[in-house]
Amino acid sequence: MITAIYPGSFDPVTYGHIDIAERALRIADRVIIGVLNNSEKTPLFSTEERVKMLQDTVGKKYPDIKIESFSGLTVDFAKEMGANLIIRGLRAVTDYEYELQMAQINYKLYPELETTFLMSNIKYSFLSSSIVKEVAKYGGDISHFVPSVVEQKLREKL
Ligand code: ADP
Repeated sequence: MITAIYPGSFDPVTYGHIDIAERALRIADRVIIGVLNNSEKTPLFSTEERVKMLQDTVGKKYPDIKIESFSGLTVDFAKEMGANLIIRGLRAVTDYEYELQMAQINYKLYPELETTFLMSNIKYSFLSSSIVKEVAKYGGDISHFVPSVVEQKLREKL
């Protein structure tokens, strides 16, 4: 039985994240999205808002995907959820170094937990939450990047 966590900031969720979450369901029996409540980053959206946007998009489409928030170490969240796999998305080579470091550290901390990477869908390989926020800030069209509920929340916020 594979229980996977898909951790991240999701500030806010984009179609790139949704694509990875959908594909995670093909690999794992259970998928739990973990929304990181990280005091070192100052997200645009609160943890509750980020969870709600995920519930309204991924959660509505895939009721089997659980959405939780967590703080602290990803490995501790994985243990709490009884997970044996971390799923992360890889876009360009620029993601690789950081992701490799995180995967190796997590392996040291908790060797029973594997990390696997799903290559970004080519449609979304340029897409990040930061770019979406930047485009939204200057009034650009973000309808191809995020679901309409997220678009609306961004418009309200900015
Ligand atoms: P973090 O702050 O942990 O990097 P993000 O919310 O930016 O969190 O991303 C969560 C995960 O989703 C990461 O593994 C990231 O590489 C992946 N991801 C983000 N955007 C995309 C995308 N467009 N395509 C594929 N994976 C993505």
